[in-house]
Amino acid sequence: MKQNQIWGSGLSPFFVPEDFLPSHPSVKEDLETEILVIGGGLSGLLCAYELLKAQKKVTVVTANTIGDGACRFSSGIMSADGGPDLLRLRELIGQEHAVGWYRLAAAAVEQMEKIVEDTGSKCDFRRRDQFYYTASPREASVLREEYYLRRHIGLDCEWLNEAEGRELFSFPCGGGMMMKNGGGELNAVKLCRDLGDWITLHGGSLYEGSRVDVIESCGPDGFLCRCSGKKIRAKRVVDARGGEVLLKRPQLGQRVTVFVVVTQPVAVFRGWKDGCLIKNHDELSYLRTTPDGRILFAGHPTSVLTPEGRWGKLDANALCRVKYKNLGAELEEMFIGLPRAKVEYGFTQGLVLPKKGLPYVGKDAQWKDLYYLYAFGESGLAGAVLGASWIRRMVCGEGGNVPEYLAL
Ligand SMILES: Cc1cc2nc3c(=O)[nH]c(=O)nc-3n(C[C@H](O)[C@H](O)[C@H](O)COP(=O)(O)OP(=O)(O)OC[C@H]3O[C@@H](n4cnc5c(N)ncnc54)[C@H](O)[C@@H]3O)c2cc1C
Repeated sequence: MKQNQIWGSGLSPFFVPEDFLPSHPSVKEDLETEILVIGGGLSGLLCAYELLKAQKKVTVVTANTIGDGACRFSSGIMSADGGPDLLRLRELIGQEHAVGWYRLAAAAVEQMEKIVEDTGSKCDFRRRDQFYYTASPREASVLREEYYLRRHIGLDCEWLNEAEGRELFSFPCGGGMMMKNGGGELNAVKLCRDLGDWITLHGGSLYEGSRVDVIESCGPDGFLCRCSGKKIRAKRVVDARGGEVLLKRPQLGQRVTVFVVVTQPVAVFRGWKDGCLIKNHDELSYLRTTPDGRILFAGHPTSVLTPEGRWGKLDANALCRVKYKNLGAELEEMFIGLPRAKVEYGFTQGLVLPKKGLPYVGKDAQWKDLYYLYAFGESGLAGAVLGASWIRRMVCGEGGNVPEYLAL
């Protein structure tokens, strides 16, 4: 392994150092705006995009550079499903809501495609089939039940038994479902950069290196926010600060550490049908290919590491090395026919798993005109797209209530 094998370092295959040089000014004087969006990740930037489309005056402020939060490490997979299994989600929020969320999540991929087209983003968006499988023939019956439910609600998927799986993939498959054309992949950092440019080109203001420390309500006059020693007055505020909100509201989710390995570029993909997205039911791991022909394998999450990168009294590097080695060995075994599927490096990052596996979107219970969008977790990209359009509808009074199961 070359570099970046150490805990918390930031080199995902989508990382280009230039992308994290500030390209927008910081707040240097007091400002006034109609809507202040706090957070320059995909959630905040998509909210700004939606609100500018609705002719609102929007200012975005972000603590460091845009796209430097969870987006920077995102695998960029838009799953063809809503994140948590439909069977599990049904237990958590009831059949009607679970089905509702699944339909919305499927629509989010389409919505993302339109946004990419509209903004002209070069984020390498591609529609993809997704194979959701289990290696264990015993687990296959559970997954098959999930498949029946998905089919029943009209999702386009096909069941592959062990023998059919073997025809398309080189790894052992007890059974799985191929979700047709329902997923997508993209480069989340590039999308953030392109959205940033689109926002400034369409009359929005965007400030980097500008952290909001305090939000005060001024009653009917809106809000006063303190940002880098300056004051920003806004009629409305959208809070899209990402994982940082967990510092004050730890009950919203659990922070786990995800391990990711990236291979050298692979010339020909044998034993991997059309480079589709792959999700493993047994270990909650994901695989995708990158536009330069690498394999990205993310999985084996653990909650034993602290946000500081410590494992009890030990430094986390030892654990990382073991995880990368295991992921690498698993990958070589899965794609035995790909001679160059050798891990080049690994990286690791904290991921917030929200309590129900869903984003949080809504209006603050205490302060009118304060909105929040926290799109955590494995369906974060879908949550950001859907959440941003709900924020626009709430702000513009367009109707269509946010489903109550997404409220804080
Ligand atoms: C390792 C990893 C892999 C992932 N893979 C996927 C995936 O494959 N598919 C998927 O759907 N999702 C994935 N996600 C999640 C997904 O990337 C995020 O949910 C999505 O990017 C939405 O991010 P966000 O804008 O809500 O938060 P962030 O990207 O974290 O952005 C929040 C921004 O707010 C800024 N900020 C915070 N506090 C303040 C403040 N007080 N003032 C000003 N600015 C502030 C931060 O600096 C940051 O730039 C992954 C996440 C991680 C960590």
